[in-house]
Amino acid sequence: MKIGIVGAGWNGSHCALELMSAGHQVVLLEKHPDIFQGVSGDFGIRLHKGPHYPRSKTTRDSCLEAFDRFCAAYPELVVAHESAIYAQGTTDALGFRSKVSNDTFAKVCHESPECSEVDMSANGLEALEAAFNLDEPSVVLGDRLRRFFRDKLAAAGVQVQTGFIVEKIIRSAGQSLVYRDDGSCLAFDLVINTTGFQSLLPAFFERDFPFDVEVVYQPCLALCYEDRQPSEKPLSFIVMDGWFPCLMPAVTTHEPYPADYILTHGSYTIMGSFSTAREADALLEELTDDFIESTVKALTEAQMCRFWPGFLQRFHYAGWKGAVLAKLKTRSEFRSAITFEQEGVIYVFPGKVSNVFNAADEVLALIANQRCIDQNGFRYVEEGVLDIARREIQHKPGAGEESTCNLQTYSLLRGQKDAC
Ligand SMILES: Cc1cc2nc3c(=O)[nH]c(=O)nc-3n(C[C@H](O)[C@H](O)[C@H](O)COP(=O)(O)OP(=O)(O)OC[C@H]3O[C@@H](n4cnc5c(N)ncnc54)[C@H](O)[C@@H]3O)c2cc1C
Repeated sequence: MKIGIVGAGWNGSHCALELMSAGHQVVLLEKHPDIFQGVSGDFGIRLHKGPHYPRSKTTRDSCLEAFDRFCAAYPELVVAHESAIYAQGTTDALGFRSKVSNDTFAKVCHESPECSEVDMSANGLEALEAAFNLDEPSVVLGDRLRRFFRDKLAAAGVQVQTGFIVEKIIRSAGQSLVYRDDGSCLAFDLVINTTGFQSLLPAFFERDFPFDVEVVYQPCLALCYEDRQPSEKPLSFIVMDGWFPCLMPAVTTHEPYPADYILTHGSYTIMGSFSTAREADALLEELTDDFIESTVKALTEAQMCRFWPGFLQRFHYAGWKGAVLAKLKTRSEFRSAITFEQEGVIYVFPGKVSNVFNAADEVLALIANQRCIDQNGFRYVEEGVLDIARREIQHKPGAGEESTCNLQTYSLLRGQKDAC
């Protein structure tokens, strides 16, 4: 088949390689001048083993299942850590207790076989119920990631075309016609939309999708830091489950002693929740260095220092970056990828980076029409992620409920700043 893939992040690029191996002819179309310029190039950091999602067993299972596949397929992109600490905070930024009990937290951490308890005071950590080292690695980002995939896609024979926005896709006479902003039109047997569910969305998604799901678009920030005492291998530290901070390395080169990190927070670095990507993009455009440094940075650092008082002696601030992420609004914080087809276009709704394997498997099953369920004009794979998680993803938080999917941090902080 001649297949066009729109969007060259993790999902589009991995899927292109899998489809070439399966004997298809693939053209990968990206609006930016280079591949991996979206969220995949800057944010897909943690190669999850599962405990980040203590309330979603489906997500934890899919993390563990994908972990070994990722390490086997992309060993060059896996960065081992000196320590990868998962800690349970006593109370979060709003004074709430962690959303999981001590027992559940310990249990989900021990689902990773190499989990070991961390001596909190010996590591200069405070205000925690427990801390475990999970030997969880991270994934390479930035230029090193782009270079790796440019070479890999070229070697596989994938045609990569960058620099043009795909504006519409029309199904006509058994072909999918892709129209770009330079006026060109390309014809494919099938198109795969891996734009992070941000453009060219399925028609009547809200009305006809077989399940009652809701999508939320969130402008997310990462505060960048430099380590003054870098070790040979980087470290990571995450406190959970609620409005807690998370520190991860951002490895973008082959240089030893990586010093770049990003700091995020369960609420302060998620700026808002919108029903369209356009609104989320607009908020990101509005943000200024002054606002971020005087509010988001100050609040996030204060929270980090509650748990790791020595943080600011070791790390210094180096700027910020932002991206819009589409999420399914769920009570359990379900974060796996779901894959389905409508009218000659297969859509991959992103989850975590390691979910590229489920997604590509399901793309291949949809192409071969193996074990597929057809409902309201949407096709998805029987026993695939969408089928398995259909109950969980319909269980949504209510409008005022404490949930990451309801966050409106920017308007809240803006209001407080204006009141001062
Ligand atoms: C703050 C933050 C932290 C995260 N941390 C982790 C983590 O620790 N571990 C993890 O596994 N995941 C993490 N994620 C999630 C992960 O980064 C994403 O789910 C994943 O990178 C999505 O990949 P993708 O290929 O689906 O989308 P993207 O990387 O967004 O790629 C989509 C591509 O489509 C292109 N595009 C869009 N529209 C068009 C168009 N009309 N025409 C042509 N091209 C188009 C875009 O330019 C982009 O390159 C994090 C995300 C955020 C925001």
